[in-house]
Formats: sequence, C-alpha cells, structure tokens
Amino acid sequence: MSVLDPVVELVRGLGTTLKMMFERPVTVQYPEEKRPVRPRFRGRHVLKRYDNGLEKCIGCSLCAAACPADAIFVEAGENTDERRFSPGERYASTYEINMIRCIFCGYCEDACPTEAIVLGDNYELSFFDRRSAIYTKDMLLESVASEEMLTPQKTEPGKYNRQSVPLMKNPQD
Ligand code: SF4
Ligand code: SF4
Repeated sequence: MSVLDPVVELVRGLGTTLKMMFERPVTVQYPEEKRPVRPRFRGRHVLKRYDNGLEKCIGCSLCAAACPADAIFVEAGENTDERRFSPGERYASTYEINMIRCIFCGYCEDACPTEAIVLGDNYELSFFDRRSAIYTKDMLLESVASEEMLTPQKTEPGKYNRQSVPLMKNPQD
C-alpha cells in the first residue's frame, strides 16, 4: 500500500460529494407531494360501486372465508326494489376490515365474485387505538358523483332481482 492511497481515496470521496451536489434532490415533500405507487401495489381496500351507484358487494362473505388473517367481518341484509343497495337478493349490511390483522395479501380481492373489494393505492393508514383500526363499510365504500347515486336506491321492480354476479365476458378468463 502506498502512502498516497489514503489521499487518492479522500479525493475520490470528495469528488462523489461534489458530483452529488449538482444532482436533482430525491427528497419527496410528503405529505404535500406523494410518490406514485407501483401498478401491483396493495394498499387500503375500497368497496367498489357500479356506474349507477349500486354497490358491487353482495354480502356473500367469500372474501371473509378466503382471508387468512380473519380480518374481514361481513353481515348480509336483504335488498328490496324500494331499498336497493346492490343487484341481486342480498347486500352487505355490515362490512368491516380489521387493519391490524390485515397482511395485504389480496386473497379477498381474488375471492370476490363481483370485483367489489379492491386493494387500492392508498397507503395512509394510521390509527392510535385498536377501535380506529377497524375500517367500516362507510369508510371503505367508493364515493359517488351525485346524491341520486347514493344507496339505498329505489329501483324499477324486478330489474335487479336475479343477476347479482355480472356475466363473464369471456368464461375462459
Ligand atoms: S388483504 Fe389478505 S389479510 Fe387483508 S383482508 Fe384481504 S385477505 Fe385478509
Ligand atoms: S366483497 Fe365480494 S366476496 Fe366479500 S362479501 Fe362482498 S361480494 Fe362477497
């Protein structure tokens, strides 16, 4: 080892520092600025609606059955044409996810026959007690563009009685 080696290393280090001074900073000014997430990112769940505002969830509990962490609780209620929440006979009168238990595996999303529960891109999950970690249906349900689209809705008699699960475009999918 030459006596000049430490000096060479020192100059190399200072060179790196100097080079970085002219690079664009990578600091993200969160929460004002949010980094976009990856396409397959699994964040906070969202309960989806159809375009007319009806809820996609039919209260079948398949998501709860598929959940390895036992984080989902679903209770079903009966739809009527006077008070309709979703197509078909039943809707979720209670839908809760315990975010402390959730491991964001996405099994609930895979199990859902109506694509009602979706893991979205929201990663802002914070709570200070166990009770606030339970996300209720009101918190999870997608917002609507206008008040007429809110559920329950009064619908045309018989129009939504039968088909609760949308027909598959391609049964091979
Ligand atoms: S993402 Fe996984 S752990 Fe979380 S609620 Fe869905 S199935 Fe359960
Ligand atoms: S989210 Fe999907 S799987 Fe879960 S209860 Fe609703 S329709 Fe069934």
